[in-house]
Amino acid sequence: MSGFTTGTAAAWLAGFAATVHRDAAHLTALDAAIGDADHGSNLDRGMAAVAAIDPAGFADPASYLTKAGMTLVSTVGGASGPLYGTFLLRFGAALPGGAASDAAGLGAALRAGVEGVRARGKATAGDKTMLDALEPALAAYEESVHAGADLAAALAAAASAAAAGRDATEPLVARKGRASYLGERSAGHIDPGAASATMLIESAARAAGGC
Ligand code: ADP
Ligand code: MG
Repeated sequence: MSGFTTGTAAAWLAGFAATVHRDAAHLTALDAAIGDADHGSNLDRGMAAVAAIDPAGFADPASYLTKAGMTLVSTVGGASGPLYGTFLLRFGAALPGGAASDAAGLGAALRAGVEGVRARGKATAGDKTMLDALEPALAAYEESVHAGADLAAALAAAASAAAAGRDATEPLVARKGRASYLGERSAGHIDPGAASATMLIESAARAAGGC
């Protein structure tokens, strides 16, 4: 089977869990500068629980991603748990037929996931949040598919755009979340959620590499 399957989804989230675990101290250090120094540990705990889910028990990627999203919501304290949980829940629900997908189907899922984060967090690009990585990633993905790219190539473009968006959060003043309490003092630091969201998209690109 090709395209985005339950196996691809599980490889994606296992890869994300491994990256978050490896870089948890870095994510927490970013959060120490403009938040409460828990982003790495929050996400590491949640993604370890997600990585422990056996994908073999699910009929399709949608049901697996629904379980993963609910697991994140229930295990991650802080703002990022419900936001990443919402991303996965909406992403899974939007996969056409809940099933394995091609580049266009995955694009619809990615759009639904990003829009879910936007609605849940009432934030948008420029607010210095994970959306500063997710929104450019979505735009790059859709542009690539429009230009004829396959799923793996479109996700690779999305990953590059996410990384650029992450880096561009450094000079921004936070308008949402805990970092916004700092006002102007939030400038000069990369947003921790934009850093982890870039890891999420990079992990997707790696998992789809073999599609
Ligand atoms: P908390 O801020 O509750 O301690 P985390 O440290 O786990 O939660 O996550 C912080 C990250 O969550 C921020 O860096 C930001 O990217 C993201 N975030 C916070 N609030 C919002 C929001 N309203 N919309 C989108 N992302 C947000
Ligand atoms: Mg925090």
